[in-house]
Amino acid sequence: MHKIQNYINGKLIAPVGGEYLDNIEPGTGKVYSLIPDSTEQDIALAVSAAKNAFESWGGKPKEYRSQIMMRVASLIEERLPELAAAESRDNGKPLKLATHVDIPRARDNFHFFATGILHYASESHEMEGLAINYTTRHPLGVVGCISPWNLPLYLFTWKIAPALAAGNCVVAKPSEVTPYTAYLLSQICIDAGMPAGVLNIVHGLGHKVGEAISQSNDIKAISFTGGTATGAHIASVAAPKFKKLSLELGGKNPNIIFADCDFEDTLKTTILSSFANQGQICLCGSRIFIERPIYEKFRDAFVEKVRKMKVSNPEDPDAKLGAVVSKPHMEKVLSYVELAKEEGGTILTGGHRVLLDGEYAEGFYLAPTIIEGLAYTCRTNQEEIFGPVVTITPFDTEEEVLMMANSVEYGLAATIWTQDLKRAHRVAGKVEAGIVWINCWLVRDLRTPFGGMKNSGVGREGGFEALKFFTEAKNVCIKF
Ligand code: NAD
Repeated sequence: MHKIQNYINGKLIAPVGGEYLDNIEPGTGKVYSLIPDSTEQDIALAVSAAKNAFESWGGKPKEYRSQIMMRVASLIEERLPELAAAESRDNGKPLKLATHVDIPRARDNFHFFATGILHYASESHEMEGLAINYTTRHPLGVVGCISPWNLPLYLFTWKIAPALAAGNCVVAKPSEVTPYTAYLLSQICIDAGMPAGVLNIVHGLGHKVGEAISQSNDIKAISFTGGTATGAHIASVAAPKFKKLSLELGGKNPNIIFADCDFEDTLKTTILSSFANQGQICLCGSRIFIERPIYEKFRDAFVEKVRKMKVSNPEDPDAKLGAVVSKPHMEKVLSYVELAKEEGGTILTGGHRVLLDGEYAEGFYLAPTIIEGLAYTCRTNQEEIFGPVVTITPFDTEEEVLMMANSVEYGLAATIWTQDLKRAHRVAGKVEAGIVWINCWLVRDLRTPFGGMKNSGVGREGGFEALKFFTEAKNVCIKF
């Protein structure tokens, strides 16, 4: 059984305590590799390596950092098929998705910030006749990056790349549920000539490894993506230590569909935004509001198409949905289907586990599920399910749909479907979400601010926002 290793001080090493955890393949339900069960001792080693490395890395010209990061991007590209296969096996997502979305995006994250840092300029503010201020930006030192399992390498690199580009050294923890591509990234960093200690990747459980990152007095900032409860806990530990915090948390996103939408385009994209990655994308729309005049037509077409979606093993090129990430997660999603029934919902399609044959018989497969007839206030419509389950609800007026859309504690993303430009702007202005897509979904420009309001998070990632987060500003005022 292959043992994944920690990447500390430029080397792949076993955890100090010598303990390992099982890594389960969601597609088969079987253990297929072992993950270091690291502790605060491993974090201490990583922090010490990062502190030593910072003396050199933080002071190097940005062009030097950029070149090393560009080499990482090239090696991700070279090893794309291998990385995509590993991601699909580790997470359960269709290989096609990992090949066309996850791994190319990980490459782009490195590429984007390796070039972005070259364009990152400081500001000056002139006070006519009196003085001039100039603001310099400095790396923070050692920073922590903690990421979730749904888009493993994609989200891991979305944090690491800006942190490194800005001149920080990093102690990073991928999700223990999907560690494999972070391990392959360690090998890539070694091959790319990343200096020892600049990036350290420590595997293990959240309450041990993640907690040690939050607790460490030497880690100056934490960039976290994951669940809202975990984010709140990290904030409670890190805020009294005055660490900078970027928290990208849960969502319960509304899709707002008006009767004047482009019907076919809306239908096609709604299917994607509901069930891509088995509905396990924080940006997936899970509450679909449909204006009454097209409610029945849309519902029937939606159900008909979703019924035909193929749930299959991740390697099947025709798979529209693969496996969800783990058995506990599958059980959690199914418990919400039961709750929806108790709350008076009607399951229009799905609502059950899918049992495949042969080596996939124990895999964690779920049928894409559409539920109607629920009150917008019920738990199914308020709590994050994070699986292939959506609810549909009719609405009569703009005010009513905004009230329902904004009724949740989350505020990550929303989609609006209409041909009426004025209405699109009006609703976009009023919907409580950090990211709004009009007549599209998941169209991403990496320069734009990315993040949520309300309980979906604090701060923004992306573009210069991320470089700002990973630097400290210093203003210098000179009298004329
Ligand atoms: P999670 O909160 O369980 O875990 C996320 C990471 O935090 C993992 O690496 C985990 O080991 C670590 N962790 C757990 N406990 C910790 C602790 N006490 N201290 C420090 N670290 C700890 O989330 P998950 O189940 O891996 O991911 C799913 C969640 O992530 C969903 O809520 C989803 O909406 C959210 N998410 C948000 C975004 C976004 O951009 N807003 C993107 C993707 C996923």
